[in-house]
Amino acid sequence: MHYEGNIIRPPSEANSILLQITVGCSRNKCTFCGTYRGERFRIKPDEVIWEDIDFAARYCKNQRRVFLCDGDALIIPHRRLLRILEAIKEKLPWVTRVGLYANAKSLKMKRAEELKQLQAHGLGIAYMGLETGDDVTLKSINKGSTASEMIDMGRKAGEAGLKLSITVLLGIAGRHRSAIHARETGRVLSAIDPAYVGALSLMLIPGTPLCQDFDAGRFEMIEPIEMLQELRTMLEHTHLTRGLFHANHASNYLPIKARMPKEKAATLELIDAALMGKVKLKPEFMRAL
Ligand code: SF4
Repeated sequence: MHYEGNIIRPPSEANSILLQITVGCSRNKCTFCGTYRGERFRIKPDEVIWEDIDFAARYCKNQRRVFLCDGDALIIPHRRLLRILEAIKEKLPWVTRVGLYANAKSLKMKRAEELKQLQAHGLGIAYMGLETGDDVTLKSINKGSTASEMIDMGRKAGEAGLKLSITVLLGIAGRHRSAIHARETGRVLSAIDPAYVGALSLMLIPGTPLCQDFDAGRFEMIEPIEMLQELRTMLEHTHLTRGLFHANHASNYLPIKARMPKEKAATLELIDAALMGKVKLKPEFMRAL
């Protein structure tokens, strides 16, 4: 495989064939993100992509899923992305699902019929970083989209038949807006009603603008117990018709996996127990991204 730069994928795609079709992220401006910093975004040449698909056809026969890397592969022009999905279908007929990262901008650039066409050609899941539903925080982290654009684009993906997995970031609003961030994020998640929600705890990445703000005293990191309170408020305000709300990433202090809506009440009770000191939190040294 012709891998370049940082290859990242969602935890749930650990066993997938990682097919890198773009390098970097077309936005690359979010203040907390260091994944592709300094990397110039580009779509990889077709011949390199075809060679990697041929490689997977020979050596990846036991992997049932494909994840299209990097940052927001959905940004690729429609016909080109369709050709890639067709090639996957033809050369890797055992693959049952293709996934990729998407953001509000790349979803906006695709018409509803185009998303449906991609879904019909094997695209099964899109992973979208919401981070927060609070407009003030979205602006300050330079996410490039408003909460209402996130809702519209998330719904558009769902209506096209794509499964949606949304990540949110505990601590991203700092101390002052923590409660607003938690409530607004719950509101936006409820409006999108995705199949999966993953709440990660913010970790500062050296060299990012957010880390520089922290060093200069312009951004306040909240304490683990405050993150847990934020998670509680967020979950309380999240009303999903089905799906999973989890916070079991390595960066989280208390692993949570709630099938919604039936396990929501019990999960809130578990968080309350932890807030009262009756459940142990993950020690700092065990946190790692
Ligand atoms: S958070 Fe996502 S959209 Fe923002 S710069 Fe990082 S990879 Fe790109």
